[in-house]
Amino acid sequence: MLSPIITEDELKLWNEVADHCHRAVVTAHAAPDGDAVGSSLALAGYLRSRGIEVKVVLPDSLPEFLTWLPGAGDIICYDVSPDEAVKAIGEADVIYCTDFNNLSRINDLADAVVRSEAPRVMIDHHLPDADQAVPMGEVLKVCRPDFTSASEVLFHLLWQAGYFSAMTRDEAVCIYCGMMTDTGCFAYNSARPEVFFVVSELLTKGFDRDKVYRNVFYNYSKHRVRLTGYILYHKLHFYKHLRACYYTLTGDEMRRFSFQRGDAEGIVNTGLIVKGMKLSVAFREDTEKGVIRVSLRSVDDFPCNKLAAEYFGGGGHLNASGGEYRGTMEEAVATLNKAVEAYRDQLL
Ligand code: 5GP
Ligand code: MN
Repeated sequence: MLSPIITEDELKLWNEVADHCHRAVVTAHAAPDGDAVGSSLALAGYLRSRGIEVKVVLPDSLPEFLTWLPGAGDIICYDVSPDEAVKAIGEADVIYCTDFNNLSRINDLADAVVRSEAPRVMIDHHLPDADQAVPMGEVLKVCRPDFTSASEVLFHLLWQAGYFSAMTRDEAVCIYCGMMTDTGCFAYNSARPEVFFVVSELLTKGFDRDKVYRNVFYNYSKHRVRLTGYILYHKLHFYKHLRACYYTLTGDEMRRFSFQRGDAEGIVNTGLIVKGMKLSVAFREDTEKGVIRVSLRSVDDFPCNKLAAEYFGGGGHLNASGGEYRGTMEEAVATLNKAVEAYRDQLL
């Protein structure tokens, strides 16, 4: 049995908001991952079951390894259909935001959301950012940083709302995919016993868990496999006396390996499989935005979100965070050199 995730008053509000809603938009963060897409699609399914017309609107297209998710084909992506995305947000009478807590994370969609007077409901699992450039302005916020994923938060919410018996297999597989991808297949952030209770309940809906794994992780292009080999062999740099490593990836290198969105996903984790490694950082040129994307992963109590906030204007979770750097790749690496020196004591 799961304990309630929200108060009785909040549950009443959740129901009232849905009862008064005719057209909802569900949105999630840019460069969507399994949790962003999974939680959005499952939530959309639930809202439709309440008779609401729902559109899922995301800032960016899905990476190839998520396009198999049921309902993914109907998602409106701002990078492909900006007018349709903005129109859907303008017409929504409720905007549900999942897997982010800062409007800066939905890029250009933020303007449309800010212009809308529709109430916003937030379902998330991120720690609050120190810098709330654009406040979310939500009427109801369900955020649990101790949870694996926004998908798991959503599951608890739907469980508490009494929806579980009506939950469809498609919704269950979306929630499972979000939990699986945000925990590296239950390898991290997944020590709470409830995680496996939720998984066992989801499995009763009859989807093929092994196939979900293959769909996400055994679904790479040959280019991506070669790119991984290239990065690990030629680009991964280990600090000599510190338990930290990084790699860089330039636009030229990405073109050489016919880079597709999502192709670098997860490679940063590989640095951490080296014995004793505490911090792994990836720098990737974002040729569209003209910035360098920074991804950080750590183990134990090394706060890579703090480092990301202090040096790369970002944030995230204790062990998985991200940010951006405006400047050259050399400058980005020099900034990291400074950062690891400042955190030297924790990296020895
Ligand atoms: P990734 O390395 O996969 O892009 O991001 C890992 C995690 O870091 C995300 O789940 C998110 O919590 C956080 N994150 C990534 N980029 C940013 C950013 O620019 N700002 C903040 N605050 N968090 C980020
Ligand atoms: Mn997430």
